[in-house]
Amino acid sequence: MKNIAADDLIAFLNTSPTPWHATAEAAQRLEARGVNRLREDEPWTLRPGHSAFIVRGGGTLAALRIPSGFSVRKPLPFHIIAAHTDSPGLRLKPRPPRPVQDYRQWGVEVYGGPLYNSWLDRDLGIAGRVFRPGEREGKLVRFEANPVRIPQLAIHLDRTVNEQGLVLNAERHLVPVTGQGGGSNSLEALLERETGAPFSDLTFELCLYDTQPAAYGGLDDAFVYSGRLDNLAMCHTALEAFLAAGTAETAESAQAVQVVVLFDHEEIGSVSGHGAKSNFLAAVLERAALSLGLDREAWLRLLPQSFLFSADMAHALHPNYVEKHDAQHFPIPNRGPVLKANANLRYATDAAAAARFHDWARRAGVPVQNFINRADLACGSTVGPGLSADLGIPAIDAGNAMLSMHSAREMCGADDPAQMTALMREFLKG
Ligand SMILES: [Zn+2]
Repeated sequence: MKNIAADDLIAFLNTSPTPWHATAEAAQRLEARGVNRLREDEPWTLRPGHSAFIVRGGGTLAALRIPSGFSVRKPLPFHIIAAHTDSPGLRLKPRPPRPVQDYRQWGVEVYGGPLYNSWLDRDLGIAGRVFRPGEREGKLVRFEANPVRIPQLAIHLDRTVNEQGLVLNAERHLVPVTGQGGGSNSLEALLERETGAPFSDLTFELCLYDTQPAAYGGLDDAFVYSGRLDNLAMCHTALEAFLAAGTAETAESAQAVQVVVLFDHEEIGSVSGHGAKSNFLAAVLERAALSLGLDREAWLRLLPQSFLFSADMAHALHPNYVEKHDAQHFPIPNRGPVLKANANLRYATDAAAAARFHDWARRAGVPVQNFINRADLACGSTVGPGLSADLGIPAIDAGNAMLSMHSAREMCGADDPAQMTALMREFLKG
């Protein structure tokens, strides 16, 4: 059977090797469906029935839709889905290292918490954004015709690696080989050709990425294999749910202002001018309210009535490491969305918010799985608790189940994107 949601997820992943490409792809999908772009440095005029989106910093985007039933006398709360556009990985340093013999190499910094080993012996492309002096909006670039590589040390030179594990030093062992000798196809030359400016004038942020395209996997296509599933898979379902909720009939009857916000910088702690700890979401919500004729007091009254759906991928039970999971609270791929909870609120979910989440799932006809971490393992976190705290909005954390999180090539269930999209559509209705 055709799996439209997973087909489209695969297409989204393949156009999005970096957070800036993912944001540009999201913007393009929104514009193609008639959602207008607003600029933060211009006045906004929003009306009931309008939808709009805003990009900040190239990697963060918010889209919102005002239902036609919204009025100053009967304002509607915000139903917000938040996800993140960035993924852990390796980013190129500004200048190449000193050569070892006639190998050509380019040094990297580690972004977030990737599994280092997963970057070895892969055909790696280089993508990101480049700026000429004075430019505000950089140019997106993507080079993969001539992949580079981080070669693993041969087992003959590392005899104990299979028993004692692979230890990689980020400064010394992750430096990709980009060529040999004085060839004309240097990274400097590629960037100069793309921008028409001398390399010494350019500034850039460039990521390595696996050039093997996202694809179905498993003997029955039960899985999707790709880099960046954490968290482009949730960016994708949030966007698709938002676009589906824009059909005339749902837009009319919606009981909430529908908001999707996709943040950069989650993997490095969200503290930046456009990360989840910036004023971006608060500013967008308040400006939307003011533009619709509400005053600040009315906006503050809306916040506790609003709801935040923090969407980030969840750890599926690993069949080779069942002991790493709580025996009663582990998700499995293809069995539906995963509600994540933690007594110390590393995930935002509390019982009251979970009760509402279960209601939306029931209305969408979607099963819900539960995840809590083993009590003796440190729990991960998301943008959920921080946003919920900053805005005073009740929140849950949920996502789809996946394996190999933070690997250069992860995997998730192929049936889950459609189920999560259905649940998010129900949530956005209000
Ligand atoms: Zn994530």
